[in-house]
Amino acid sequence: MKRFIQAALISAGMMTVSQSIFAAPTQAADTIFYGGPIVTVNAKNEEAQALAVQNGKIVAVGKKSAVTKEWQAESTKLIDLKGQTLMPGFVEPHIHILMTAITEEMWLNLSNFTTQYDTLDSLSQKLKAALKTLPKGQWLAAFGVDPSRTTPFMAELNADILDKVSTEVPILVMNQSGHIAYVNHKAFELAGITDKTPNPGDGGIYMKDAQGHLTGVVIEPSAILSLVKHMPPPSDAELAAAMQKTAKYIASKGVTTSAEITLGLMLGLDNELKLFNAVTHSNDFPIRVRAYLYGPLLGKNFNTIKPFDGDDRLRFVGVKFVSDGSTQGITAALNEPYDYPKGSKFRGNLDYQDEQIYEQIKPIYDQGWQLAIHANGDRTIEQTLNNYAKLLAGNPDPKSRRLRIEHFTINNEDQVKRAAKMGIIPGFTIGHVDYWGEVFHNQIVGPKRANRIDPSASFKKEGARFAYHSDSPVSNVGPLNYISEGTGRLWQKPPRQVLGPNERVSIDDAIRAVTINAAYEMFSDDKLGSLEVGKQADLVVLSANPRKTAVEQIRNIQVKETWIDGKKQSW
Ligand SMILES: [Zn+2]
Repeated sequence: MKRFIQAALISAGMMTVSQSIFAAPTQAADTIFYGGPIVTVNAKNEEAQALAVQNGKIVAVGKKSAVTKEWQAESTKLIDLKGQTLMPGFVEPHIHILMTAITEEMWLNLSNFTTQYDTLDSLSQKLKAALKTLPKGQWLAAFGVDPSRTTPFMAELNADILDKVSTEVPILVMNQSGHIAYVNHKAFELAGITDKTPNPGDGGIYMKDAQGHLTGVVIEPSAILSLVKHMPPPSDAELAAAMQKTAKYIASKGVTTSAEITLGLMLGLDNELKLFNAVTHSNDFPIRVRAYLYGPLLGKNFNTIKPFDGDDRLRFVGVKFVSDGSTQGITAALNEPYDYPKGSKFRGNLDYQDEQIYEQIKPIYDQGWQLAIHANGDRTIEQTLNNYAKLLAGNPDPKSRRLRIEHFTINNEDQVKRAAKMGIIPGFTIGHVDYWGEVFHNQIVGPKRANRIDPSASFKKEGARFAYHSDSPVSNVGPLNYISEGTGRLWQKPPRQVLGPNERVSIDDAIRAVTINAAYEMFSDDKLGSLEVGKQADLVVLSANPRKTAVEQIRNIQVKETWIDGKKQSW
């Protein structure tokens, strides 16, 4: 436009050629980045030499000579990347921010992503040690045990084992998947749950043994939360501090925008709205948030918040439901039985009957909300696709609704094709391949089903978008990790093996899965996810260019800086 105006002025004789594009710029950029590769993630995956920012927005991307000529003024701050790489800030479309803050900053963190696995004994020792410093009146709450990554395989805590840690202090230990918890009898007692208490609905189960006694294993969010709500609540200040720490941790991984995928789940909708409003608008919160309300909390006539309410720091874009459990937890709903234990006929559980979930999502869809449904197993994916097809029937532009399926783990080819046709965006917990690939392949579902998990290349073949996420606290936040995982598909446990080589994607496609596609998945691609003129200047500075790095080394690239709206963030 400016060039056009200048040309018009020249032809009108109001400006000489020497005064025009070769003279001092008519507009001054606040900042110009140069001196390293600038990975734009535009439609052609182009790289640029310089990027200019004005008032928090990108105003020029291109050749250094052109950008500086047009935008460099005396007041412009020049930033020499010194060979480092500039990219769009990463976008994380599925994180439980508050759950991560609570479980990793306030609870005992038992997560173990090393190959030195825990045993029931080492876990009990860690719990006993934590008991010594536990303030009086508190529950011993922990997160991150994982029977599928415990020695021996599938060794599981229960009420009797936890009673040996304490019969006086209530204990609740959450499974790494977030879909299972283990509690002692004191916890049941304080929550008023007995052998006769009915299951709480929404797929929740209090597991019982053959004699009808509670085992201490508790399944799905509704059942777990019926215990968690009896814990003494943390203060607002404690919560805000934990949230800020978590946001800084997320930012340190290069993320500038993150989903809160289940707003309201932990503390109720009103409490969490207050908390998120306060923290995301504070001066020292280095990520934008795109929030998904936790569906079961919304009544039919819910109207306190409308789709896309909010602002650039905190926007409400969707509603999330959970329709099954975890594959590594052997609770996701499959079409064919699990391979473990051998000869098992168990196919997992759907949290809702087809009609039951349809009745919940229909009024929300009709209000214009984007839906995000958690479906790990192929039986749940089938149910979700059927219900989405019913919702979209007669819609001339189904893709405009950008319906989401979270995880899309165990799947078949037909489901990929159907999803792609409806414009459904699958979000893959690509860390499944890394941390659980070996047990999926060798124990839980067998090679045929395991090789197809997180079917990135299959979606690409259908011309459809896909995005990667951590599902933190389920797996570690780290978009650079996801790029290695999506392109290499190597599992962690030695001897390492490629899980489903056909589903590997190019580095550029994996980069899109953590930037522009993730932004698209959250209706934010108009402003975020690539470095193009007119978009917000949300940036990440990396020690190396992932496009020029060996696949397995991409995860080791260092995140140096993140910027939001052209302002450097501190973390
Ligand atoms: Zn999740």
